[in-house]
Amino acid sequence: MADVLKGVPVAVSLTEELTARCERLKALGVTPSLAMLRVGEKPGDLAYESGALKRCEKIGISVKKIILPSDADSKEITAHINEINNDDSIHGLLMFRPLDDKSAERSACEALDPSKDVDCMTDASLSGVFTSSGKGYAPCTAQACVELLAHYGVILEGKRVAVVGRSLVIGRPVSMLLMRENATVTMCHSKTQNLPEVCRNSDVLIAAIGKAKFIGADFVSPGQVVIDVGINTDDEGKLCGDVDYDSVSEIVRAITPVPGGVGAVTTAVLAKHVIESAERVI
Ligand code: NAP
Repeated sequence: MADVLKGVPVAVSLTEELTARCERLKALGVTPSLAMLRVGEKPGDLAYESGALKRCEKIGISVKKIILPSDADSKEITAHINEINNDDSIHGLLMFRPLDDKSAERSACEALDPSKDVDCMTDASLSGVFTSSGKGYAPCTAQACVELLAHYGVILEGKRVAVVGRSLVIGRPVSMLLMRENATVTMCHSKTQNLPEVCRNSDVLIAAIGKAKFIGADFVSPGQVVIDVGINTDDEGKLCGDVDYDSVSEIVRAITPVPGGVGAVTTAVLAKHVIESAERVI
């Protein structure tokens, strides 16, 4: 049976460190502050918002919530982004994505000041992830995968990592972050041939597809570490990942659960980015 790489201990350890850094900032007269912008009432957004609020509260980060109706237009959303840009007391923005209105989402991403981009909405931040320039923050979920691997002492240097999924939110940025750790990364997608074989031949497998229990026993081999980024619901309406946990955990060395794996670390990484952004202004 595989070791279970739970997210909570990673989040707790990050939270302790961030609480101390937040106290130091407050002593210097700076209260780290995050704006959260939500359009509509999607259940996934509400769940993430609730988790992020609790994490910020625990650490001492102040949060300004902006909630817009689901039919808010591009002009209205961008006006709020401009207000955030001009408010020196706010150090970061979390806008729940994707928006249904793709053009409004693009405009919002283009409007945000990159210095407040704590979740990699802007092209400037994305470029920093790809060039390793040290500018900008990686998407919180992509960064959470790397934090989790580091916490559990998983060595990446020289190892073969298969990343399944190539979105700009997870697959591509996490591949770049892993390459920074000197892993040999294979990026896979819906047109990859012999996907189970490519996955089986990796030391670390990262699944970010969005398909419930897609990665089964035929995709894995003994000794592997499996990181399941997926958040889906199964046929019975229960939360599950992209990996078929029951069959895969019988084979591999270690695996993250869903829920309670990567998702639990994501809000702590968001808080870390807000604290770093606040530290840059002192
Ligand atoms: P996405 O934008 O829909 O991208 C899915 C990727 O998976 C695409 O690159 C797609 O390939 C690939 N894919 C789809 N079917 C495939 C198949 N049969 N074989 C191989 N590759 C396949 O999804 P996303 O935004 O990256 O999210 C992925 C998952 O992570 C979702 O379950 C989402 O809910 C979850 N998520 C988790 C967190 C967290 O905090 N844990 C945060 C955000 C998202 P193509 O490019 O070829 O189409």
